[in-house]
Formats: sequence, C-alpha cells, structure tokens
Amino acid sequence: MTKRILALMLAVILGIMPLAALADNFVPSRAVAYMDSHFTCGCSRGGTGTMIGRYGLITAAHNLYCHQHGKPLKYCNFYFGAKSANSCWYEYSGKFQYTVYETFQNGYDSQNDIGYVIFDYPVGKETGWFACIAGDDYTVDLESNHIYSYDGKRHLQSLSSVQHLYDSTQVYWNGYLSSSEGGPVYIWDEGADFPCLMAVYTSHDSDGNGYGRRLTQNVFNDMKADGAFN
Ligand SMILES: [Zn+2]
Repeated sequence: MTKRILALMLAVILGIMPLAALADNFVPSRAVAYMDSHFTCGCSRGGTGTMIGRYGLITAAHNLYCHQHGKPLKYCNFYFGAKSANSCWYEYSGKFQYTVYETFQNGYDSQNDIGYVIFDYPVGKETGWFACIAGDDYTVDLESNHIYSYDGKRHLQSLSSVQHLYDSTQVYWNGYLSSSEGGPVYIWDEGADFPCLMAVYTSHDSDGNGYGRRLTQNVFNDMKADGAFN
C-alpha cells in the first residue's frame, strides 16, 4: 500500500476530505499564514499558521498567548501566501476567536503548545486548506514529512525531515528552521494530490532537534465541535 493511499484512507476514516484541498488550483502556500501577533503585555512576535477548513486555522499556542508573560492576544493580522512584508495572497485583519492548550503561566512548555483560531469569515474560501490527520497512536511513515515556516521577511521556508521519534503528543526530528513556529508538519508524497497536516512546528533545542505538537484526537474533536472544519 502506498503512503498516499494510506493517507487518503486515514482522511476518509476521519471524515475530513476537504474538497477545496482537492481542487486543481489548490496552492498549499496560500493556506499558510504569516501571523503578526501582538499581546496585551506589549510583546509581539511573528508566527506561522495553517488553514484546516473554511473557518479554522491551526498554529502553536505561543502565537496566541505570550509564552514569556502568559498574556493573551491584543490583536493579530494574518497574511496568507506571503511573499514579502508587502505582498501576500490574502490578508485577514477581522474578528476571530481562539483556543489554546497552554497559557504559559509557568514559562514556556512545548508539551501542549498548540491552539486554533476560528475566523468570523470563511477565510478558507479565499485560501484553500490542508486536510488533517488526527491521532495519538497509529503509525505513519514519517519519512515523507515536510514543514513550512515563514522567516522574519515573510518568505516561506520548507524543510524535508528524515529522522523521527514520537510519543503520544510530540514529533521530533533532526533539523530545524531558523524561522517562525506554528507552521504545518505535513505528509505529502510524490504523486499525492494534497498535503495532510499531522502536527504543528513548535520549537527546537540547542542540538538542532525540531519539535512538533501532534494534532491529537482530543484537539481534533474540540476543533470539530467548534466548527473549524465546517
Ligand atoms: Zn509578553
């Protein structure tokens, strides 16, 4: 069985086969946003997030909550398919709600560094979106993983990772991107029609190991209940 078929089967089993992601004109980078996040403590940071439905975007929690001071967003603008600080495919600066699984009251912790945004507007109609693979314990062929992340000049960086270990919530790989966190860790084989997100890039250590928080079934269920996949 090819990895592509396996990914398709998992997507079908989970009941998430977003039609837009299958469209001929789907361009994955347009579904990935550079996030200009500003927090109530006065801090700001650049991050990366990924559309996963018409209304939902998934990212690292520390793009939605200041990981230094445990404070929420004051505002955030989203630049989808950014090519520079002045050019993007679609910009959203309207209203949204968000949920995080870590508020960093005791400093940074990567364990639950994941969150999601529900836009008031169906942004995904403008950008397309990634399919998702949720799960805690099944095996996927991680050799086919890729990662997207914007750098400070809003250029999209890509990493193909080759070595992985993972537990129930986190993915690890050898190598990291010196750019913003929160972007998609996704599977997209040669010949596949669309990318499937299975984690978000959250952090790296001093040894050059990258870390990602998996889209676990609990998070997936919350997102589904909130309408992120509608
Ligand atoms: Zn802060």
